[in-house]
Amino acid sequence: METILLLAHTETDGSLVKSAREALHAAGALHKSLADSKFVVGLVGENVQAAANSIASCPASKYFGVVGKDFSQSRYAADAAAAEAICKAAQATLVIAPATSRWNRVLAGVAQRLGGRADTHVTEISSTQTAGIAVNRWYYRQRMEAALQRTQRPWFILIDPGSQIACECGAGSATVENVTIALTDSAKRTTVTGFHAPAADAQTIRPDAQLLFVTGAGWTKKQTDGQTHVPEAEKLIRNFLQLTRSSLGSSKSLVDQSGEGQAVLPFLSHLNQIGQTGATPRHLKGLSTCCHGEEPHTVGWRFIAERRAINLDPNCGWARGKADVLYVADAFAVMGKVNELLAAGK
Ligand SMILES: Cc1cc2nc3c(=O)[nH]c(=O)nc-3n(C[C@H](O)[C@H](O)[C@H](O)COP(=O)(O)OP(=O)(O)OC[C@H]3O[C@@H](n4cnc5c(N)ncnc54)[C@H](O)[C@@H]3O)c2cc1C
Repeated sequence: METILLLAHTETDGSLVKSAREALHAAGALHKSLADSKFVVGLVGENVQAAANSIASCPASKYFGVVGKDFSQSRYAADAAAAEAICKAAQATLVIAPATSRWNRVLAGVAQRLGGRADTHVTEISSTQTAGIAVNRWYYRQRMEAALQRTQRPWFILIDPGSQIACECGAGSATVENVTIALTDSAKRTTVTGFHAPAADAQTIRPDAQLLFVTGAGWTKKQTDGQTHVPEAEKLIRNFLQLTRSSLGSSKSLVDQSGEGQAVLPFLSHLNQIGQTGATPRHLKGLSTCCHGEEPHTVGWRFIAERRAINLDPNCGWARGKADVLYVADAFAVMGKVNELLAAGK
């Protein structure tokens, strides 16, 4: 019989992030498909009662908590000890956790301590009576999908954020069983002194946005009047981002230009690059502008549900089956009009 443990940590305000609810959805679905399985929840944080209450109507039969000031923030030694203690208390065989930066750093080490195995970047868990439990993940820059099975337990499964729907189980009153651990002084040596994050407006990568807006090198190329129009491009892109709060992606050619000292859009960095050697974000929709849609770029669009592109060239890569809709048009004109309509709508 499998004991499924949903392992989550709270945020500093005591809440659970969306990706924790996504992992909870995956764990609940697996529990439902395994007739004789047991399903429990483990929470780590300064205080976990509010988080447990917020998901109290999920099908878990028991809640475990490691609580205290020592667990309010990410610290390898404390987090690993907490996760290990909960796994032991729950006698977990399958540990399902959101792939937050905090758990990503820790859970492979915990699997090692417990003689288990860990799989990261999991996008799907399936189980059938005949085939057993399998997890799916992507390889070779999201070009190949593999289904993996393991006999080793405990099996740690880290679920990629955005790959599941978030569990909507409602609030209630949960009884949390405290798992006490005595941290040694050596487990408390690291102290989190604060966070450095870009100002809200400088932060252009927004994983939770509905739309991915992608810019290509065409924005900096000579246009029909024989001139480049980089300041105008910058204004159009910034306005669109401000009006829509979409996430900003880029082609490699455009982000590379900054390294080559050419006139570029200052708010783009290599972190914005989408593609084979860039990111593979997940968004409901994507709009590509002034980007050719070449294969190494579009492999990064794997998880964009609806793709649209604007390009002057009717034979660009998007036209060859890589976009659902291609507007053969001047992106300067189109985005100018779109911004005008968005501003009027607001
Ligand atoms: C091993 C390898 C890995 C790579 N990895 C990546 C990767 O991860 N990500 C990535 O992006 N690329 C990657 N590339 C590079 C990729 O092959 C392309 O070179 C790159 O994506 C091209 O960028 P682009 O479309 O912005 O520029 P270009 O190819 O120069 O295209 C510019 C486009 O803008 C259009 N345009 C110009 N003006 C306008 C206008 N006014 N309105 C509308 N359209 C206009 C033009 O028609 C043209 O199609 C990789 C290449 C290799 C070999």
